[in-house]
Amino acid sequence: MEKFYITTAIDYVNAKPHVGHAYEKVIADIIARWHRLKGEKVFYLTGTDENAQKNSQAAKEAGIPTRKFVDKNVGFFKDLCKILNISNDYFIRTTEDRHIKVSQNIFKRLLDKGDIYKGFYEGLYCEGCEGYLTEKDLVDGKCPEHQKPLKPLREEAYFFKLSKYKDHVMKLLESPNFILPKEKRNEMLSRIKSDDLKDLCVSRKNLDWGIDIPGDKNTKIYVWLDAILNYVSALDYPDGNNFKKFWPADVHFIGKGINWFHSIIFPAILISAGIEPPKTILVHGYLTVNGQKISKSLGNTIDPVESVNKYGADTVRYLFAREIPMGEDGDFSEQALKDRLNNELANDLGNLLSRVVTLVEKSFSGQIPAGKADTQIQKSLNLKKIESYMERFELHNALAEIWGFIRACNRYINEKEPWKQKGEELGNTLYNLLEALRIITILIGPFIPDTADKINKQLGTKAGMLKDCKFKPFNGRPKKGEHLFTKVK
Ligand SMILES: [Zn+2]
Repeated sequence: MEKFYITTAIDYVNAKPHVGHAYEKVIADIIARWHRLKGEKVFYLTGTDENAQKNSQAAKEAGIPTRKFVDKNVGFFKDLCKILNISNDYFIRTTEDRHIKVSQNIFKRLLDKGDIYKGFYEGLYCEGCEGYLTEKDLVDGKCPEHQKPLKPLREEAYFFKLSKYKDHVMKLLESPNFILPKEKRNEMLSRIKSDDLKDLCVSRKNLDWGIDIPGDKNTKIYVWLDAILNYVSALDYPDGNNFKKFWPADVHFIGKGINWFHSIIFPAILISAGIEPPKTILVHGYLTVNGQKISKSLGNTIDPVESVNKYGADTVRYLFAREIPMGEDGDFSEQALKDRLNNELANDLGNLLSRVVTLVEKSFSGQIPAGKADTQIQKSLNLKKIESYMERFELHNALAEIWGFIRACNRYINEKEPWKQKGEELGNTLYNLLEALRIITILIGPFIPDTADKINKQLGTKAGMLKDCKFKPFNGRPKKGEHLFTKVK
C-alpha cells in the first residue's frame, strides 16, 4: 500500500487564527482526503509553533504566564480544525516533550559533527520574522513582510554551516517537483544562484521561552530551527513506527513567505543530520479580503469561524479550492461566498439531487429498477482529467471539471424529460442519474465531505473509493431529505 505524508506549516499562537490559517488547513485536508480516496495510507499533520518569542511577547502584553497563554490559544487552532472538518491524523505542539527531545537530539548531532559551531553574530534583527535580515532583504530600510524597522544586535551564537550544503540543495531544486508550482521554484533557484548562503545563526541568548541548547542552559535553539523539525518529531524520529512508515514527507504545504526556509534551509539541515529530504514543497499565495491585504491595522481580518457559522464549512472549503489557483494570491469575499453557494452548490448540485430523488420516489416509490448504462452521460465524466489535475495540485481545475459533470447531468434531465417518460425508458434515465450522483459524491468528498455524507444518506449509498467511480448496478434506496444548501441573499 502506498503511503502519503502531508503537512501544513505550524502556526504561531500569539493571536486567534485568521482566514489564511483556515485556507492552508483546508487545502491540505482536501489533498489528504484525495489520497485516502485512492486507497493510500495517509498521515496528515498540522499543529502550532509555540516556542516563538512572539508568543511570549503576546503573553506578557496580556499579563498571563506564557505557558498558560499558549495552552489557551492552542485551543482556538484545534477548534478551527474541528469546525472546518479537518481530518488531520495528529496535531503537533512544539512544547511537547517528544518535540523538545527530537530538536535537542538533532541539534546535538549537528554540533558533534561540526556542522554547528560557536561564533559571534552581528546583524539586523526583525522581531516579526524572528530572524536576521540582510541589507538586500530590506525595502526602504524595513522588513518588507512586517513594515518594521530592524534592531541591530550582536551576540555570541551558534551557526549552522549552510554554505557547505549549497550544492546538495541546488541539486534538489533542479528536480522539477521539489518546489511546486514552478514559478515558486524559479524564484528560489534564481535566489540561491546569486546567494553564497552565509552560515545560519541557529541560537538566541537571554530568552526565557524556547528550547534549551543541550549543554548550554543560557541559550535557546533558534525557534525557526525547532519549528521545522516538527515534521520529523511528530513521527517520533528516529525510531518511531510512523517515521519509518511515512518519512520522507510527500508534501509540505506552506505559504510563500516561508518558502526559503523550507526549500533551502530545511533540506540542508536534514542532509546534515542524515535524514532524507522531503519530496515536494508545495507553495501557496496569500489571501486578500475584498482585494486588500489582510492586516490588523486595516481592520479587515476575517474570523473564519464566523464565516463557517454563517455559510457552513463546506461553502468555505468549496470557495478556497474553487476560487484560488495553487500558488497565486486569492481573494476572500463575502460576495464570492454567496455567489458560489447560490449558483454552484445550491443550484447545480443541490437541485440535481433533489430533482433525481423526487422523480425516483414519485415513479418507483424509491425502488429503482436495474437500468442500462447510457454512454452519453458516461462520456461527460472525464476521470483521467480530474485525477491529473489533482496530481498537479490544480484543485480549482479539478473542481471545475467535476462541476462540468454535474451540469451535464442537469442538462441530461432537461433533454430526457423524465417526467414524460414511462416504464423501462424512465427506469434507464433514473438509473443513469443515480449512478452519476453516486460517483459525484465520491469525487466531491475530499472537497465538501459533509455534503457528500448527506447525499449518500439520501441515496442510501455508502461512501466509495476512487476506484468505484464507474457505472455499476445501483445499490441504493433513495429517500428524499432536506435541501443540501439554503440560498442566501
Ligand atoms: Zn520581518
